[in-house]
Amino acid sequence: MIRGTYKVILLNSILIDQMIIDLRSDTITKPTPQMLEAMMNASVGDDVYGEDPTVKALEQKAAALFNKEAAMFCASGTMTNQIAIKCFTNPLEEVICDEGAHVYYYEGGGIAFNSAASTRTIKGNRGIFTPQHVLDNINKNDIHHPKTSLVVIENTANRGGGHCWELAEMQAIARTCKENNLFLHLDGARIFNAIIAKGYSTADVGNCFDGISICLSKGLGTPVGSVLLGTHSFIEKAKRIRKVMGGGWRQAGFLAAAGIYALDHHVNRLTEDHQRAKAIEECLQHCGFVKSILPVETNIVVFELIDTVTESVFIAKMKENGVLCSSPGKQQIRFVTHLDFTDEQMDVLLKKLKVIAC
Ligand SMILES: *Cc1c(COP(=O)(O)O)cnc(C)c1O
Repeated sequence: MIRGTYKVILLNSILIDQMIIDLRSDTITKPTPQMLEAMMNASVGDDVYGEDPTVKALEQKAAALFNKEAAMFCASGTMTNQIAIKCFTNPLEEVICDEGAHVYYYEGGGIAFNSAASTRTIKGNRGIFTPQHVLDNINKNDIHHPKTSLVVIENTANRGGGHCWELAEMQAIARTCKENNLFLHLDGARIFNAIIAKGYSTADVGNCFDGISICLSKGLGTPVGSVLLGTHSFIEKAKRIRKVMGGGWRQAGFLAAAGIYALDHHVNRLTEDHQRAKAIEECLQHCGFVKSILPVETNIVVFELIDTVTESVFIAKMKENGVLCSSPGKQQIRFVTHLDFTDEQMDVLLKKLKVIAC
């Protein structure tokens, strides 16, 4: 019965995929048949009681990868980020991050709501900032100012067009945080894209941070899930916060099995997504509607339209042609490549881009 239901879902998704090329985000992927197989064969238990063996296996695997002591599997990257911020701050304290950071720009004001903390934003270069930026934004010890307690960096930087931090840049921020008694959290929703593009190791990344959030439901292609990593005591505290947010879950092992499968099979293939994004960039360089393109490093292509074409007109035109894209800002268009974006779709997309005149 359950297997039958999965087949129907799979058939539907194949039919839909044939009709449209969806490049709005790398979150739109559906599990592959092999991933579904892994999910259906998972051993599960009640994770609120700490009894789901597959959740435990995913958490141990992810923690070991990044050289961290412990991990916690959650429903979303927003949840892992917000829990980390809550753990690393007290009410009335302040968080430093880039002005385009997901934790600030896309999490609904969650820092103020969940942590009663304020945010100090930095104007970085495509999401990347320096130790000097951090130093310039640490408040002095004075009751007029909130106490600065946490720095958050995002790698790859989503609003920076998938821009990657260099390992040395992350290490420099880590040193500055240590010297100034600040916690450092990584929003690593797309950290595997950075790791594949830059060639540094998961352990090198892990050693820079007190807390790390990784997403399994972006480029890695699972239907749901993010993992928070850190010390035993941090994860113990994080579990209390997850519970009070209503995020304790039961037989989550079915979803954790997808995560394990993705870590084993979908990391190295991110190169393909990066190659396809690069090919889209090359094609766009010859398109009349393009004013400029953020240099492509990973699976995100962000470009600016010429003044005479608005983003809503462009998105509508692409939709008429069976291609979905999004706009991260005024005059900007974003394409994100992913596991369900095939070479056949790529050929169709490039042909359409060449003939579209806005
Ligand atoms: C997608 C994303 C998240 C988490 O998003 P959820 O939809 O809550 O899983 C966090 N940070 C960045 C940079 C993201 O792109």
